[in-house]
Amino acid sequence: MLSGTLWPAHPKPQPGECLSSWLVRCGHHNGLKVQTFCDRVFGKEHQVWNRDVDRLAPLWLLQVITAGTGASRHLADNTTMKLFEGRLFEHRNKGGQLRWVLLLGQYHRLHRGFGMQYCPLCLREDSEPYYRLSWRLAFYTFCPYHQTLLLDRCHACGAPVVFHRIELGRPGRYDTSGLDECWQCQTRLGDFQPLPLDRWHQGVFQRWERWLRAVDRQFVNSGRIDYGCMARLHEICRRIVSEHKFADLQRSLCLRSGQPVLPLSVSRRPFEHRALPERHYVLGLAWWLIYRQLRNR
Ligand SMILES: [Zn+2]
Ligand SMILES: [Zn+2]
Repeated sequence: MLSGTLWPAHPKPQPGECLSSWLVRCGHHNGLKVQTFCDRVFGKEHQVWNRDVDRLAPLWLLQVITAGTGASRHLADNTTMKLFEGRLFEHRNKGGQLRWVLLLGQYHRLHRGFGMQYCPLCLREDSEPYYRLSWRLAFYTFCPYHQTLLLDRCHACGAPVVFHRIELGRPGRYDTSGLDECWQCQTRLGDFQPLPLDRWHQGVFQRWERWLRAVDRQFVNSGRIDYGCMARLHEICRRIVSEHKFADLQRSLCLRSGQPVLPLSVSRRPFEHRALPERHYVLGLAWWLIYRQLRNR
């Protein structure tokens, strides 16, 4: 019944939506649990949720979802990290860390990543809550529209955001009222007042905010992402958190920018594995350095 052509319900991706969010909404719109829906349309031999489909979607998945929804291949590609190829990183390699891309918990078991961030206010204002591809990026730590910090876990129980599990293991539950529900404790993720952004340096935050708006889907093709600048920013972040080789970097940046010297988690983990408050703090220092370098040119 669901194979081959257009599905009975065929929602298109919302502006800036990521593939995983779109796929889960397709299942719910067709009145099915996500797992049942995926088994029917992709076949049991094709497992969707043991991989990061936002990062690298298999061809069979893209072919089925475009046929089922009538969306163009271009539209479907733009729900994945293919959109940022050559803009934020070189190529989407299959394994390993992709620059700026956060890791999902369910397939990276050792570190239990918190790879999907969210803005509670955006979710609350959506007519149908959905997740943005840009929320998967490590430098997207605040919402440029609400001027508040994002969250990278449930504000009530601390679980990672895993919206395809909301009705998993709950017999009889087909009626998920929206993807803004915590899969573990069922709290509404939008029912939270996030921390207001501390714009401690106007020039830095103007620049940072401009980049955040640029990575939203509607602006990405206007060429406003400067690959070299993003690579440099990443390198500075990496150095700040690597306590061995560049031990004094954080302290000296704090001294010059007037920011407090906060303790960083001691670990060899890459920048993308770190919790949101730490990334936000480190990014502020790194942006400050870039801002100064550009001004002094
Ligand atoms: Zn927002
Ligand atoms: Zn929760």
